[in-house]
Parts: sequence; structure tokens; C-alpha cells
Amino acid sequence: MRLILLGAPGAGKGTQAEILSKELNIPTISTGNILRAAMKEGTPTGLKAKEYVNAGKLVPDDVIIGIIKERLAEDDCKNGYILDGVPRTIPQAQAMEELGIVIDKALSIEVEDQTIIDRMSGRRTCKNCSRTFHMIFNPPIKEGVCDVCGGELDIRKDDMPETVKARLDVYHKETEPLKGFYENLGKLVKVDNQPGIEETTVEIRKALEI
Ligand code: AMP
Repeated sequence: MRLILLGAPGAGKGTQAEILSKELNIPTISTGNILRAAMKEGTPTGLKAKEYVNAGKLVPDDVIIGIIKERLAEDDCKNGYILDGVPRTIPQAQAMEELGIVIDKALSIEVEDQTIIDRMSGRRTCKNCSRTFHMIFNPPIKEGVCDVCGGELDIRKDDMPETVKARLDVYHKETEPLKGFYENLGKLVKVDNQPGIEETTVEIRKALEI
């Protein structure tokens, strides 16, 4: 299964990707996580990405394509993968096609903007391993501490309310048109966000017939 997850920031792509990844035994590739790791390490890519990420803007397409090309060539991607947060623009999707990256399905998780705004205020991210939690819907066992690696939980700079609004604008303008792109290819599958994480996973399984 080579799957793309589409949806606004905070739609639950990362959370659902993690669940599907375990079930299908394929890796999740999140350009957001790769960029945050690069920023933390201060690599040339990280330094280039920083101003865009912190302002809620999209990182230039050529940087993203370089990351994806390198990552998908790794061994663990041979039997499939889940792309979380990429492609994010039509040119990225076109560039991926030109590279011969063929996907099976693009799954869009549909969520109202207001739900996203409310939800983002509760999101916490592990500073060390990038795993996300939610204060109400998916709390860590111990407050402020990552269940997986024991790292410190933090509010991502780009999860601050003003930046969330900017990211939603970018989503509607640049990323949402990808739904039409994949619909034309007969690959789009849509799922409405459900009140809980597990209910959304149930809908996704139905939609993907897995
Ligand atoms: P995410 O964790 O997917 O919400 O991504 C966080 C931020 O990383 C985004 O707001 C962008 O600044 C940047 N980013 C991640 N993936 C992409 C992409 N495919 N294209 C451009 N920018 C991206």
C-alpha cells in the first residue's frame, strides 16, 4: 500500500498514520517530522526550512522533493509507505509523478476549520521523538512526558493560534486542490472526521477496504 494522507494541519494525519503504519507494517514518512529533525540538528536543509516552518508557510518545493526522493529510496519503503503531509502542492504531486512515484490511494481526512482551531490548542509534541499527544483526546500517561521515549512534551511553535490560522489559509489555497488532482486519477478517498481517534480509524479502514 502506497498511501497519501491529505487533510488540514491538525486533521489527525500523523495520529492515523501511526496507527495504519503499525497495522500495515509499512513506514510513515512525514516531511514535517523530517524538517523538524533537520532544524533541531541545524543541517543546511534545517536552516533553510526554519523561517518557513515557524511562520506556518510552505517550504519550497525543491527542498521537499529532494527529501522525498532520498527517503523513498531507502529499503524500508520497498513494500509500501504512508506519506503524511506530502505532497502539499500540485507541483510537488507532479514532481513525484515525474520521479515515477506511483501511489495507490490518496485519503483525505475532512475536518471543519473551527474544529481544527479548537483542537490545535491541546496538541503537545515530544521534543525528542516528535510523537504527538492531545491534552483531552489522547493524553500522555504522565503529564508533560512522552509515553514512548520519556522526552519533554512541548507546544510546537507553529501550533500557536495565529500560525494555525496562517497554516489553514495555506492549506485551502495550496493543498486542497490536490483533492481534485487525485480525484481525476481515480485515487481519492474521503473520510469525515469522527469525534474520537478510534472512530476515525474505523471509517478509514472501511474507506481503504483494509
Ligand atoms: P506538518 O508537521 O506536516 O504540519 O508540517 C509542519 C510544517 O513543515 C509545515 O507548516 C511546512 O512549513 C513544512 N512542511 C511539511 N511538509 C511540507 C511539504 N510537503 N511542503 C512544504 N512544506 C512542508
